[in-house]
Amino acid sequence: MPMAKIGTCEECFQYGRLTPHHKIFKSEQIALRDCKENIIYLCDSCHYSIHHGTNGYGLRIKLQLDFQNYLERILLKEYFTVEEIEKLLEIKYKDAYKIVKTLKRHKGNLYKREDIIREAMGGKIITESESDINE
Ligand SMILES: [Zn+2]
Ligand SMILES: [Zn+2]
Repeated sequence: MPMAKIGTCEECFQYGRLTPHHKIFKSEQIALRDCKENIIYLCDSCHYSIHHGTNGYGLRIKLQLDFQNYLERILLKEYFTVEEIEKLLEIKYKDAYKIVKTLKRHKGNLYKREDIIREAMGGKIITESESDINE
């Protein structure tokens, strides 16, 4: 698990104590808890705002859309094996397996790109219009 550190908040650029935040919450997709691209370091104020603030939802959706765009950038084929997902997302095999285990298999051991993305996103795809509304 990532740890707190001192540095510059990736959202407001204030220097200070930072805590790791999971763009896709652990409650949404636990298999991404160690995925570097899913973690952002935030100051206490930004982190509090995401989870409890009145304007937190917009930032939360923005970060989730960032992660979804990342998945779309790295998954450049129609079908993937568990091993390929492990390598591309830089996660453990057992976490890659967790993402695909409920997905429909194709040709024996392949999983469909859009199924992988949806599952990694915790079951929901974010649309551009959704992210605009909540900016
Ligand atoms: Zn901040
Ligand atoms: Zn958090």
